[in-house]
Amino acid sequence: MRVGIVGLGVVGLATGVVLAEQGHNIVGVDVDENKVEGLRCGRSPIYEPNLKEMLDANASRIKFTTDYSELSDADLVFITVSTPTVNGRIYLGYVFDAAKRLSDVLRRNDSIVVIKSTVVPGTARKVKEIVKNDVVSNPEFLREGSAILDTKRPDRVVIGSQSKEAGDVVENLWRFTGAPVIRTSWEEAEMIKYAANSFLAIKVSFINEIANLCERLPNCDVNVVAKTIGLDRRIAPYFLNAGLGWGGSCFPKDTQAFVSFARDMGERLRIVEAAIEVNRERVPRVVNMLKSLLTRGKVCVLGVAFKPNTDDTRESKAIELIRALKAEGYEVVAYDPKARTEEAKMVTLDECISSSDAVIIATEWDEFRGLEERLKDKITIDARRVLDPSKMEASKFRAIGLGVQT
Ligand code: NAD
Repeated sequence: MRVGIVGLGVVGLATGVVLAEQGHNIVGVDVDENKVEGLRCGRSPIYEPNLKEMLDANASRIKFTTDYSELSDADLVFITVSTPTVNGRIYLGYVFDAAKRLSDVLRRNDSIVVIKSTVVPGTARKVKEIVKNDVVSNPEFLREGSAILDTKRPDRVVIGSQSKEAGDVVENLWRFTGAPVIRTSWEEAEMIKYAANSFLAIKVSFINEIANLCERLPNCDVNVVAKTIGLDRRIAPYFLNAGLGWGGSCFPKDTQAFVSFARDMGERLRIVEAAIEVNRERVPRVVNMLKSLLTRGKVCVLGVAFKPNTDDTRESKAIELIRALKAEGYEVVAYDPKARTEEAKMVTLDECISSSDAVIIATEWDEFRGLEERLKDKITIDARRVLDPSKMEASKFRAIGLGVQT
C-alpha cells in the first residue's frame, strides 16, 4: 500500500520503518525541514535501538519530504504529530493543522486518515469534519527504548472506526503483528489510550508511596515488597519499580490532559490527580535524602534521559533533579550514555564520579549496574535502585524505599 506518515517523531518513524519492512511504500512528511533533510541523508534524528538500521535497510521504500502534496494518492495516512499539554490541557493544533493540510491535498475519497497521536475523546470526530475522508483511531502504545520491537509486536491493536471498511483496511495492515485486535468506537479507542497510560502512572506512584513508608521502617525494602506483590497475577510485576518518578514525553502530559478533559466533562479523576501529586514530590524527596548526607559541594548525576535506551530528555526527572540541586546551591556534573543536556556540565562516567562529592543515580541505564565497588566510599543516593545495598557503606548510602538496615 501507499502509506503516508505525518509527523516524524519516534512514533512516526517506528511506524514508517516497520511498515516499509512489510513491503509498503512510505512517504514521511514533517514540517521540520532540518529533520527531513537529515533523514534524507540517512541520519536518524533520535537515538532508538535498531531505528537507524531499519531506516538504512528500508531506504528504497521510504521517502521523506516537507511537501504534503506527495500524499495526494496515498491509500492511508497516519497522523503521528505531537500533542503537547499547554496550560494543563491538550493542545490539538498540530493534529488539526495536519488534518487541514491533508484535506487540501488528498485527491482520492477512499484515502483513509488514521490518527495515531494520543488525543482526547472527541478528536477523531472533529478530524472527520475537517478531512471528509474516513477516519480511524489507532492509538499507539509503544515504549521509547523499544519502539521498533513494540511496533512489530504490540500487546494489542486498537482500531476505532465508524466505517467498517476503513477499520478492516487498518486491521489488515497490522495483521502481521499477530496481536489481538480490538474494534471499538472512536471515543473508546481514544479513551483506552488515556486510561492505559494513567493506570501505569498510578501503579508507579502507588509503589513510590509504599517506598516512602518503607524508608521509615527498619529492614524494610520496597523492592522485596514490590517483587512479592507482583507475583500475584492480579497485580503483575510490571511498573512496580520505585524510584525518582515518571517523566518522558507521554505520562506527564497525558495524565494532565486526561484530568483536565475529565473536569471539562464534569467529572474528577481523583486517583490520577493523586498520582500526579505523588510524582511531583519525588525530586524534592531525593534532594532531601542528599541533604541529610551532604549540604554543599559537587554532585554527579548519573543519567539525564527520562529512561534508559533513549536520548529523550523531555520531562526527564533527572533534569528536574539537576535543576533542583542547583537551586539548592550544589554544583552539578552529569553523565549519560546517550542524552545531552544544557542543565549540567557533561563529562565522562569516570570524571563524573571522581570529580564529585556525591553521586545520585537518576536513570537506570545498565551501565550503572555493578558500580558498587566504585561508589562504596562515596556518598551515594540510588534513586533508581540499580545498586546492591549490601555492597554499599551504610553510613554513606541512601536508596529509594530502603529502610535502615540493622
Ligand atoms: P514528537 O514530538 O517526537 O514528533 C512529532 C513530529 O511531528 C515532530 O517532528 C514535528 O515537527 C511534527 N509535526 C508537528 N506538526 C506537524 C504538522 N502539522 N505536519 C507535519 N509534521 C508535524 O512526537 P512523538 O513522541 O513521536 O509522539 C507523537 C504522538 O504519539 C503524540 O501524540 C504522543 O503522545 C503519541 N505517543 C508517543 C509515544 C512515545 O513514546 N513518544 C508513545 C505512544 C504515543
